[in-house]
Formats: sequence, C-alpha cells, structure tokens
Amino acid sequence: MKSNNSLIRLNEKSCTNCQSCIAACSYGALTFDVYPQFDFEACTLCNACVDTCPNNALHLYIPEDRYNQELIKDGDTIWVVVELNHGRILPVVFELIAEANRLSIQYRQPKKVVALLMGEHSEYLIDHLFKYGTDQVYYAHHPRLNLQLDEDYASVLADLAIKHAPSIILVGATSFGKAVSARAAALLHTGLTADCTALHIDPQSENLIQTRPTFGGNLIASIETKRHRPQMASVRQAVMKTLEPNPKAKGETIKISIPDDLLLSNVQIIRNEIRNTIFSLSDAQVIVAGGKGMKTKANFDYLNELASLLGGQVGGSRVAVDKGWITHDKQIGMTGLSVSPKLYIACGISGQIQHMSAVTSSDTIIAINNDPDAPIFQYAQFGILGNVEEILPLLIAELKMGEKMVDVFQFEL
Ligand SMILES: Cc1cc2nc3c(=O)[nH]c(=O)nc-3n(C[C@H](O)[C@H](O)[C@H](O)COP(=O)(O)OP(=O)(O)OC[C@H]3O[C@@H](n4cnc5c(N)ncnc54)[C@H](O)[C@@H]3O)c2cc1C
Repeated sequence: MKSNNSLIRLNEKSCTNCQSCIAACSYGALTFDVYPQFDFEACTLCNACVDTCPNNALHLYIPEDRYNQELIKDGDTIWVVVELNHGRILPVVFELIAEANRLSIQYRQPKKVVALLMGEHSEYLIDHLFKYGTDQVYYAHHPRLNLQLDEDYASVLADLAIKHAPSIILVGATSFGKAVSARAAALLHTGLTADCTALHIDPQSENLIQTRPTFGGNLIASIETKRHRPQMASVRQAVMKTLEPNPKAKGETIKISIPDDLLLSNVQIIRNEIRNTIFSLSDAQVIVAGGKGMKTKANFDYLNELASLLGGQVGGSRVAVDKGWITHDKQIGMTGLSVSPKLYIACGISGQIQHMSAVTSSDTIIAINNDPDAPIFQYAQFGILGNVEEILPLLIAELKMGEKMVDVFQFEL
C-alpha cells in the first residue's frame, strides 16, 4: 500500500501500470512515476479512477473520523419542499410530488411521499397536496416563514431532515428553490444536483440517479450521491408530469411548531412591493413559438397576435434568440426553459433535439413548416405544411372571425 493516510489507496501487487486511472481522472490528480501518484489537493474523491481500474488495484479508503458522522441511514420517505407564490403552490411542486410517487415504486420497499409546507395560516393548502399524491404533510409553522427567506427555509429543512432522515429531498429549480437547496445541502453535508431533468432509482444500489445537462447542454450527466443521505436534487419546472388529482385523497398532517432560534436569516423586510411580473413561460397553457423560419423580427408580431387571441405566450428557438427576435428569457430548449403547455404551436422551427427535449411534455403540438421532412413533424400531432407568412395571417383571421377554428384551439384553461 502506498500510504496509510491516503484516501485512495493503491495495491501495487495488483497494478499492471496500464495507466487507465490516469486517463480517467478529470482533475489532473494522477501522474505516473513507476506507479500512479496521487495529488490529494486536486483529487475530489470522485472515484472515477477506482471504477476504471481493470485490476481492482485502487480502493477508496474512508477514514472513520472523516465520514462516519455524515453517513445517515437511508430513510423511508421522499420529501418535496413546497414553494409558494402569493399563497399559491407553484405547479412544479405538484410535478415533484408526482415524480416522488414514480420514484417510490421503483424501490423494493416503496417509500412514503412527504410534502414539507412552511408558513403560517397555510392549512388551506394541505388538501391540495394530498389531492396530487402526497401521503403525509409536514406543516412547519412560524409567522416568519411567510416571508419566504431562503436561509430560514434551509435551516428548517435541514433541521427536520436530520430528525426524520428522508432518503431523498426534491426542490423546484426556481431561483428560490435553488438557494434553499444549496444552503440545506451545505448544512446537511450532503450532495445536491441542481437543475435535474430526469430522475430514477438504480435497481441494484437503490441510489437516486440524477440526470442533468452539463457543459452547455453538450453532455448529459448522471449523478449519484453514494455515501451521504439525504440525496438532494432540484428539478426543472415543467419537465415532469403531474398526477391526475384525486379529490377524495386524504393523508396525515404533522404540525411542527418552529422555534425562533431556528430562523437564522438576518434579512429584515422594510417594505413589500408587488412587481408587475409576467407570468412565467414555464407555466403557460398555450405557447406560440417561432424559429429561424419566421425570417424577421417583424414577423414575430404574428406570433404575438396569435398568442394573445389564444390567451397564450410567445417563446422561441435559440436561433430566434440569437437573431435578436425574442429575448433570452423566452428561449425554449435544453439551454433555455422547459415547458409543458396544453398547446404548443411551433412556427418555422425545425425540431432539433435541443429544442424538442424541452417541449415533449406538451399535450398537443402543432407544427407549421414548409419542409415536409422537418423533424418537428415527427413530434407534432397536427402539421401544417406551408409558409408561416401565409398561414399565420390566415389562422389569425379565422380566430378573429370566431367559431370556425375554435374546436381546434379551445382548450380547458
Ligand atoms: C449545446 C446546445 C444547446 C442548444 N440549446 C438550444 C435550446 O435551448 N433551444 C433551441 O431552440 N435550440 C438549442 N440549440 C440549437 C439547436 O440545435 C438548433 O440549432 C435550433 O433549435 C434550431 O432552431 P430553429 O428550429 O429555429 O432553426 P432551424 O433549424 O434553422 O429551422 C428552421 C425551420 O424553419 C423552416 N422554415 C424556413 N422558412 C420557413 C417558412 N417561410 N415557413 C415555414 N417554415 C419555414 C425550415 O424548414 C426549418 O425546418 C442548442 C444547440 C446546442 C449545440
């Protein structure tokens, strides 16, 4: 053995000097000098070298004092943190509850789905959580929690997680959710994967496999939290499907009174102002999106008009953003927003995977494109082959006239 203090140990007898461990290290922490040499300043203990070694010559050594305190027994619950906006539960919370149900049944022994609701006088929301698939609600109440400060939420979340040991904690990848989950993960000394787009349970290890785009969307990474609990993930909005609500569903509510000294935030609210915020594209029920085939910024006026007639919003492909026809906050796709409207109308969009990966949860996709071989037609339930500059004015005129198109476009909003 190389060194008793090493965190990764080499068994020289098994090592054949094949150097595959050196190639596997993304952090430059391994060099070769007779045998592999470790730079533990650079090493992140990612385990890639250990996993790669064909001769099992490398082993991860975990000193008792370094890790044992942090190892928490795997719990029998999956938690979803409830985020509110002006007293309403954000749609992503219901998506996460549905996903927690889907994860639960992938375990050999299914886990309970728990929603963590924080605030004061928020009891009226509990039935909604049951209706959408929650088994149990932890209702952590204190008047200060109504201020929704990320430090306070994180402190309460970490405290309750230490006491009740959930296996998984899911949080919406909103700016608030990301701030809460990052703080809570630090308090819990556990891993966190931000901005996940897919989750599943590994059938062997029963670890949570957390999938997210990385390196600007060029790679898809699957991340595991192997040695720590809880496993934490923030999940993009509008990627997971909600369950059909069951109005008769009931569950157990556990009320927890939060002591003042757990609320650590130094933030003082001087005044509250309600900003005239635009409804997020991720929550829109109808989206009219334009791509390079729209040709000019002026042609986006058609999209604005169509969207306003349908009570929807306008989005665009990355090319439309790059050309300055629409702002980046309206970009739909792998490096933009994920959406799941009831109706998605794609105008002059070819349907590349980086765009389509973010819209496939839409209930109905209508594509307008002048190329019969455009990939978008493989995703669309309705396709209109033709020039957007001719078809959009016709659609708008029909809608303005009233009834004719309404059967196609009227959705329950
Ligand atoms: C790492 C990475 C991340 C990416 N992230 C995103 C992302 O988040 N979102 C995104 O959208 N893209 C993203 N892209 C880019 C993506 O690969 C495509 O290049 C992009 O989606 C194409 O946009 P488009 O469909 O508007 O343009 P094009 O692919 O050029 O398609 C234009 C379409 O318009 C049609 N058309 C042309 N004229 C007309 C007309 N007059 N009437 C009707 N149809 C017409 C054409 O037939 C064509 O199908 C990413 C790429 C990479 C590499």
